[in-house]
Amino acid sequence: MGEKRNLNFETEVVHTGYDSKQFQGSLNPPIFQTSTFTFEHAEQGEKRFSGEEDGYIYSRLGNPTVRILEERMAALENGEAALAFGSGMAAVSAILVALTKSGDHILCSQGVYGCTFGLLQLMKEKYHIGHNFSSMDTREQLLNAIRPETTCIYVETPINPTMKLVDLEMVSSVAKEKGIPVVVDNTFSSPYLQNPLAIGCDVVIHSATKYICGHGDVIAGIAVGKKEFINEVAMTTQKDIGGVISPFDAWLLLRGLKTLAVRMDRHCDNTDKIFKFLSNHPKVKEVFYPGDHNHPDYEIMKKQMRKPGGLISFAVNGTKETAQKFMNELKLIKIAVSLGDAETLIQHPATMTHSVIPKEDRERMGISDTLLRLSIGLEAWEDIQQDLEQALQKI
Ligand SMILES: *Cc1c(COP(=O)(O)O)cnc(C)c1O
Repeated sequence: MGEKRNLNFETEVVHTGYDSKQFQGSLNPPIFQTSTFTFEHAEQGEKRFSGEEDGYIYSRLGNPTVRILEERMAALENGEAALAFGSGMAAVSAILVALTKSGDHILCSQGVYGCTFGLLQLMKEKYHIGHNFSSMDTREQLLNAIRPETTCIYVETPINPTMKLVDLEMVSSVAKEKGIPVVVDNTFSSPYLQNPLAIGCDVVIHSATKYICGHGDVIAGIAVGKKEFINEVAMTTQKDIGGVISPFDAWLLLRGLKTLAVRMDRHCDNTDKIFKFLSNHPKVKEVFYPGDHNHPDYEIMKKQMRKPGGLISFAVNGTKETAQKFMNELKLIKIAVSLGDAETLIQHPATMTHSVIPKEDRERMGISDTLLRLSIGLEAWEDIQQDLEQALQKI
């Protein structure tokens, strides 16, 4: 494997973790499409199992293509070690199960990914691991929400789809005083825009399905943290629950990562343009975007993110049916959940990603029936804007 070099992010996405000399000069990492690895003799097998000798055993426990991805992701997130998983949710569940036992409590930001919410419910009902939500707006609010049995603080920022932010520096300093690890789902920012470990948080999780892959053709997850903790997860919840990534998917992520920096710059530039267009449009009621100077968390964005990101939510004037008609009139923009792809995607949180939340709760969270969430793609912003404009004219 390549040694850890002190290179810029744009260079590390291309090179870190891979040394072509070790792979017969192959410019790109080979795909080690194998379930198991042969030992030269019985004693070698014994030594590999006991840990006396380094080397591969079986692909659920480690695979060379996957290892390259893990080394690269660890470097990109300023972490000591990383693990790749078969989905973002496999990463979330492996980390939360590793950090809790029956009777413990998880304190979450106000708003977490739908399936993370489902997992928290399951952990509460079946294993007596409780959870609560806090907006984490101030130190006092956070301190009040922490319980003696809290063993994990779990944060998403920006929060989907309202684009509210959580101040990671504040949360990590409070958590340090209390000795509680902070886990951040960094999916919306990608490692290019935000590095929670560098701010003092303990574990970063990604749904690599999104910006890390960038091409909408893989379901995968990543967790990054301290070597000791990541090793423990590798040897327990990952190995035994088994949500590992395939070598081919790891290879697709390595391929996607090479363009992460250029893609993110384009996503962000396009989103700035579309924000300006939407916020001046008479048929648009409100727009949620952390790059908006009037956004209540704009200062937090400046402090912890390189740029405001590629996601924007907006409400149209009218009813649920108006929002749906608007979506149906779009020609270029595709109706789909997920985000971070080359294609601009639109979804309707009230009837899609957040439909399981009761209407009153949803509205309290700022998710009205006319709110739409856009994941701005890599197309020319003029074409994205033109598609939005022609559909807005029809409502
Ligand atoms: C998509 C997503 C997940 C889940 O990831 P999968 O790869 O679909 O399992 C978790 N968190 C966030 C913020 C997501 O957007």
